[in-house]
Amino acid sequence: MPHASDRDRPAGGEGAGWSAGVADGAWLDVSVPLREGIPHWPGETAYQCRVREADGVRTSELSLGTHTGTHVDAPLHFLPGAAGVDEAAPARLCGDAFVLRVLGPAVEAADIGRLPTGVRRVLLRTRNSDRAWAEGPHLEDHVGLTAEAARALAARRPSLVGIDYLSVAAPGAARPVHEALLGAGAWVLEGLDLRGVPEGPCELLCLPLRIEGGDGAPARAFVRPRAAA
Ligand SMILES: [Zn+2]
Repeated sequence: MPHASDRDRPAGGEGAGWSAGVADGAWLDVSVPLREGIPHWPGETAYQCRVREADGVRTSELSLGTHTGTHVDAPLHFLPGAAGVDEAAPARLCGDAFVLRVLGPAVEAADIGRLPTGVRRVLLRTRNSDRAWAEGPHLEDHVGLTAEAARALAARRPSLVGIDYLSVAAPGAARPVHEALLGAGAWVLEGLDLRGVPEGPCELLCLPLRIEGGDGAPARAFVRPRAAA
């Protein structure tokens, strides 16, 4: 089982050092470090951090979008009048999950068919993880769910669907994919770094910022792989 400290981290990333200090070594930090130059969705605010020093006290001012880096999409992102990110329930976002490895150029309905029954939280590990966070500014050919795959997944009524890039949808399929998932009650976790995370069952911790009425929010996320039963 890989440890966070064994993983190939993006240049400038600081997650490995932090995770390596965790006593049991079992939790993997699958959030991407927020840093200047991190890829962002076209049209979204580029991440910036301005540090201020005054009277020996350091503070910082951030510029970022609600969908910057690792983040959660609340239903309100695509469904007018639906729940905002401040209404996120831990039972929905945190708990047993399953990492599904997808090798192709899109996540297809046949891939969803490989999921065990009863999985409540699905994390899609694609080739994005190996490219996305190193090859800025934005991956045009990122791997995401086709509309058909999203409908197949939505039919399983998951509470959360995660993926390792800034959109859960294949290029050109953003609306049908988000509407299928969010409309079925699944919250979406985007911008994960799942390098080195094995396919199979795991525990997930995912805690988005409590932004009142927010359409989404940056989140910290950890997974702890489980030995297969
Ligand atoms: Zn998003």
